Amino acid sequence: MGINEDPVAIKSIELAIIEHGFTKGWIQPQPPQQRTGRRVVIIGSGPAGLACAQQLNRAGHLVTVLERANRGGGLLMYGIPNMKLDKTSKVMRRMKLLEKEGIDFKYNTEVGRDVALGDLCKQNAAVVLATGATKWREMRNIEGQHLRNIVQAMDFLCEVQKDICEADTAHAAGGSGTGKNPYEVRGRRVIVIGGGDTAADCVATSLRLGAQSVLQFSRRDEAPTERPKHTPWPCWADTYRVDYAHAEGMAVPGRDPREYMVLTKAFKPSAHDPECVGAVVACQLAKTGHEMEGVVEYPAELVILAMGFTGPDDAVDPQGILRRDQHSNFLAPYGEYMCDGSPWNTLFACGDCRRGASLVVTAIAEGRDCAARIDAFLMGGETVLPRTAPLAANPSFFQLPKRGEEQTNIVKRHQRRRQQLQSKGVSEAFERGLLVEPKLDEPEAEMDNAGSASGSRPHTFGTSAPAAVATPQQNTAAAAPPQAAPAAPVPPLFAAALGGLAVVNLVLVGLLVRSRR
Ligand SMILES: Cc1cc2nc3c(=O)[nH]c(=O)nc-3n(C[C@H](O)[C@H](O)[C@H](O)COP(=O)(O)OP(=O)(O)OC[C@H]3O[C@@H](n4cnc5c(N)ncnc54)[C@H](O)[C@@H]3O)c2cc1C
Repeated sequence: MGINEDPVAIKSIELAIIEHGFTKGWIQPQPPQQRTGRRVVIIGSGPAGLACAQQLNRAGHLVTVLERANRGGGLLMYGIPNMKLDKTSKVMRRMKLLEKEGIDFKYNTEVGRDVALGDLCKQNAAVVLATGATKWREMRNIEGQHLRNIVQAMDFLCEVQKDICEADTAHAAGGSGTGKNPYEVRGRRVIVIGGGDTAADCVATSLRLGAQSVLQFSRRDEAPTERPKHTPWPCWADTYRVDYAHAEGMAVPGRDPREYMVLTKAFKPSAHDPECVGAVVACQLAKTGHEMEGVVEYPAELVILAMGFTGPDDAVDPQGILRRDQHSNFLAPYGEYMCDGSPWNTLFACGDCRRGASLVVTAIAEGRDCAARIDAFLMGGETVLPRTAPLAANPSFFQLPKRGEEQTNIVKRHQRRRQQLQSKGVSEAFERGLLVEPKLDEPEAEMDNAGSASGSRPHTFGTSAPAAVATPQQNTAAAAPPQAAPAAPVPPLFAAALGGLAVVNLVLVGLLVRSRR
């Protein structure tokens, strides 16, 4: 966690575990053994959409995923570079598993153009927006912006990855690579504008494609090596890092590609071809953020703009019917996911399009958690799916104090009101993919272990009212033999002592919590 020591390599550990599972043949498709008949459409096949689809399908719903690209995976397929995530051995392997579990994927289908969102909402029991947040931040209007070979990072990365995929597919079929990537990089001087992770991926991609030189411009100063006070745990530690891209830059061209506190002022046309970019004109910023005198001309034959994202694009909702939050993401409360103020009460949102550009793990957690809420919505309040988003511990529930506010408790709890949800642990039967109706001759203890949710599921089919579910105490009472002797009464002195102990415990816990704050 990086609180008192360097973080451990969780990624490598998890990767080793799952790869071991695949090698042993333990990871097999888990199709549901019964269907509820409810139809759910998921828009977008990124990690949020896939995670949501997998859970809802395993819960027995009929799931269709609509994707505008020609392959599934969202940014896992066309976004994250191949050297960070292999498409064939990782992404496609998972997609095949999901197909075998019975999820229907429809590619080259853009909602908002090929089919209307409203129609989907009317025709299906639930619709999920999992469209990601890849609307890029535009550069302010500067001279020469229209020149050729100035490209957006997402266009650049997508085209490069599509090209690699086509080449791999052609190779597998015995042919040779197609090489249709429109952005010629080999032998060129590349400048990447932007200081984030996407910019770093563009640096690494350009280096691997044989760029003559790569520079990365950031308006920010170099981050400190020690965790600064304004980003305490659990906030993201804003410290100096050497990303893989920068390490590769240092190793091959022999210098860190990053240039700090640089502000782009204009693009100049090339002397050989006035339609193409030839140089980036930039000025240095002072520590105060003010522009310093004079400009520098950096020669460049390819400029990649990677200045971050500003929420989901408008494709799915061209009329702007859906409500957005202050960051222009689709408005749907965390932990609930139902779109606020939408004309359709069957519409949910999860992943980057709901919370803004984030990480794969967050998208997966949201997709799974959203599936639990949808399952409950479809099955009259009852769900067999686990809650997965760490509701209370999520850093988004914490916020830094505003300027001038007391700094003693640097991180304070976000005062967000949310509905108390009854979280249910996943039943053992569901974990094992055994979504079967318990047989009548099964011993009662087995049925209790299997969890009331999976046991009661077939009976809730077709109802809209919440299913009456026995509490564990009621279950135990029901299972007790009728002739069992009543429990011996508790002596009053003993009961009073127990009560006293409970009060002391509560006071101690209260003191502990206050002292931690
Ligand atoms: C270059 C880059 C590198 C990254 N590297 C990492 C990394 O190393 N580690 C990490 O954890 N995270 C990384 N991320 C972030 C991570 O990829 C995202 O947070 C995650 O993919 C979000 O998942 P999602 O399912 O919400 O959306 P996405 O993955 O964006 O998927 C959305 C899908 O919806 C589809 N779609 C959109 N609109 C429509 C429509 N109208 N009709 C049909 N389909 C539609 C899109 O085509 C897309 O396939 C990276 C992001 C980028 C851009």
